Amino acid sequence: MHSKDYPKEPEGDFIPGIYNYCDRWCERCIYTDKCRLFATENIIKEDITKKKEQEQSIERNKSFWNRIHKIIEEVEDLYDEPDVTEDDATIPLFGKSEEDEEAEEAMKEYEAFRNKAAQHPLTKAASDYSTRAYQWFKQREGTLKQHYNQTTKEFRVTCQGITDKEVLQKLTGAVEIILWYEFQLSIKIKRAFTSLNQEEAEPEFFEGIQKDSEGSARVALIGINRSISSWSYLLHHLETERESIRPMIKTLMQLKMKMEQNFPGAMNFKWPPE
Ligand code: SF4
Repeated sequence: MHSKDYPKEPEGDFIPGIYNYCDRWCERCIYTDKCRLFATENIIKEDITKKKEQEQSIERNKSFWNRIHKIIEEVEDLYDEPDVTEDDATIPLFGKSEEDEEAEEAMKEYEAFRNKAAQHPLTKAASDYSTRAYQWFKQREGTLKQHYNQTTKEFRVTCQGITDKEVLQKLTGAVEIILWYEFQLSIKIKRAFTSLNQEEAEPEFFEGIQKDSEGSARVALIGINRSISSWSYLLHHLETERESIRPMIKTLMQLKMKMEQNFPGAMNFKWPPE
């Protein structure tokens, strides 16, 4: 990749690392003007659009593939060279340095922390919640309909028996929130426990800095709180669904309580950072 192909550096008064502990819901974020990631993604999107517009005829693509074929042929020729034997082609070609071994060791250790976090009962409970919430909406596709307009990017929900515009608007917001966090919760909870495992293994290394475990737990807790409010709105307006919604709220309440116990400092985590 040529350096000119890299997206240009965004300019602005960005808050360093603000994107590390957000919920990535950029369309609803009030810090887009402070976020380098948001600005970079916009530049990339603009670049892609420009490139698409510049895309030329099939001939150009043909010449691209011709070039690729030539490269493949050249590589094949290289393997025909008598001085390159199968033995020489072992990987890695340069042998392992001490740093490589340390990095490998660190990766193994991190994997172990991640696996342990994946087995944590709260990660499993959150993952179970995701599946149940997903199925809940799937089973109600006929009555609680979701509509998405690709062009306007508008999302709205209609519901059998509800005609009040304001209620439908709020219902849309509530469904949007539940769907946004539905799968994110278990990811954030798993990350919180992965980092907690790391921090507990090497406490001196993390002393005096904001803990990643608390930052991730904070995002999870915000998602849990918003999901509880949203399910509660559904509970209030979908009378026939009360029995099916109550377990969702109960699960989320338990998750909230346990997450607060495991990460007592989560809500003190400073975000956005100053
Ligand atoms: S801080 Fe806001 S704009 Fe930046 S990645 Fe997170 S949600 Fe998106």
